[in-house]
Amino acid sequence: MSFSENAITVLKSRYLKKNGLGEVIETPDEMLQRVAKHIAQTEKDFDYWYEKFYEFMASLKFLPNTPTLVNAGNPLGQLSACFVLPVGDSMEEIFEAVKQTAIIHKTGGGTGFSFSRLRPKGEVVQSTKGVASGPVSFMKVFDCATESVKQGGVRRGANMGILRVDHPDIMEFIHCKEKEGEISNFNISVAITDDFLEKLANDEEYDLINPHTKKSVGKLKASLVWDEVATNAWKNGEPGLVFIDRINRLHQIKGVEIEATNPCGEQPLLPYESCNLGSINLSKFVKDGAVEWEDLKETVHTAVRFLDNVIDVNNYPIDQIKNETLKNRKIGLGIMGFADMLVDLNVAYNSQEGINIASKLMDFIQSQSHIASSDLAQKRGCFPAWEESIYKDQNILMRNATTTTIAPTGTISMIADCASGIEPYFTLAYHKQVLDGKKLKYVNERLLDRLQSSGINVEDFLEELIANGGRLKGLNVPKSLEDLNEVFVTSMDMDYTAHIDMQAAFQAYTDNAVSKTINMPNSASVDDVKQAYLYSIKKGLKGLTIYRDGSRNVQVLVSASNK
Ligand code: UDP
Repeated sequence: MSFSENAITVLKSRYLKKNGLGEVIETPDEMLQRVAKHIAQTEKDFDYWYEKFYEFMASLKFLPNTPTLVNAGNPLGQLSACFVLPVGDSMEEIFEAVKQTAIIHKTGGGTGFSFSRLRPKGEVVQSTKGVASGPVSFMKVFDCATESVKQGGVRRGANMGILRVDHPDIMEFIHCKEKEGEISNFNISVAITDDFLEKLANDEEYDLINPHTKKSVGKLKASLVWDEVATNAWKNGEPGLVFIDRINRLHQIKGVEIEATNPCGEQPLLPYESCNLGSINLSKFVKDGAVEWEDLKETVHTAVRFLDNVIDVNNYPIDQIKNETLKNRKIGLGIMGFADMLVDLNVAYNSQEGINIASKLMDFIQSQSHIASSDLAQKRGCFPAWEESIYKDQNILMRNATTTTIAPTGTISMIADCASGIEPYFTLAYHKQVLDGKKLKYVNERLLDRLQSSGINVEDFLEELIANGGRLKGLNVPKSLEDLNEVFVTSMDMDYTAHIDMQAAFQAYTDNAVSKTINMPNSASVDDVKQAYLYSIKKGLKGLTIYRDGSRNVQVLVSASNK
């Protein structure tokens, strides 16, 4: 086993079992044995699958999402990262959802909600003759509940709050996180409809619909709302966009409506659905400058089986969630370490070749995962809602309504010691302040290898690199290192189109959605943000999060998790 020092620190803080005194009583190896044992328990040939599951985690080729690593074989037993809960338009329903949220957060799951069913602020409430306080005010209730559960839970509870662009309170929603620190346990996104985009293209007004009465209660100019969204995103990265009609058009199950996604946006789900994720570490699949396709194929098949087993051994926190999850049996296999793979292939992230590799790779992973799910369906049966799915029309048996999702892998990439998700490197080197005031130096390992074999004074060069913000671009690079300039790119070295092109390349071959931040330089304008929006629509994304460098005091994207 090859956990790095950083990985062991992360594992000790939250993942390894502790006794009543808070002392760690499990080794990383025992953690993997616990997980493999729990997930293989449904298998007839337990020994074989236990060994396989253990081996592909121990070699760091695959890791499941955090709740599986933490809870498998432990009393909580809740294994999924992603949930969507419905929020109905009554006090009972709202507070029921708050309670369910607390239960999910306690186990390490993240929750997404649409607040679009709530009547707008100011509408009379029949039973009390008082006035409704509207979606934003109730979001604050969820936010406070999250804050309180945070202390005792497996990890910080995360939420996604979504409001349809045609909800009468849309303007208040767009501005609701303007003040830094407000509703801080939520990411927020506006659900953009096709109707809205049409009105925007024609520079027209669109109707605001009261969800309670279903009647139009006013109109807004589409371009004005678009401007407000872009201006706020420019200011502090929020709100994001979710193209809700597109998500529903591409949904694998017919006759039902998706309203929301999980906290980081990569997993659209039906009300009460949950999904478990797992990611393949691509940094382990390059040998002598070439992708090891056979090994990757086998890993995909094992991963699909693993994630399908998770559904059956999962301890669901609420009965409705169990029922809805078992109908569609969605799983989300994704990847991490993509930036490392590109460096090992000597290909630049922001190049046509980089995009081509992304497409070829995800096409392969998606089609192999479908084959794996289809194989499982032959033995274990199709998912119960198969009759209502696109797979019935195509006459393809499937065990899972979806198989692929690209998660951020914020923590599991630290455990696997690879680049997170499909993100480019955020920085190549930086000083990290540690508790006793000492400075530790972080350097991208692949770069360090190349520097050490180049014959230059590595220490001096690293100081210059750190002073240059951890980027090779703009640095006086010695002749012997010039070829590195192109391949060791960071997220700030490329413009937003390169980020969106990469997200689109992966989205084209992903059943669910793709987590990605579209980084922009501090100098970007509101107009650039709007251009990025239009470009993302043209390229077929399901959603978009932009972040302008330095626009938040507390930068959410910590370089350490993006190395
Ligand atoms: N998530 C959460 N709280 C967190 C981080 C993540 O609830 O602090 C959930 C959320 O639904 C997110 C998903 O886990 O979209 C996957 O996030 P990530 O891949 O970063 O999780 P990891 O498995 O690496 O911890």
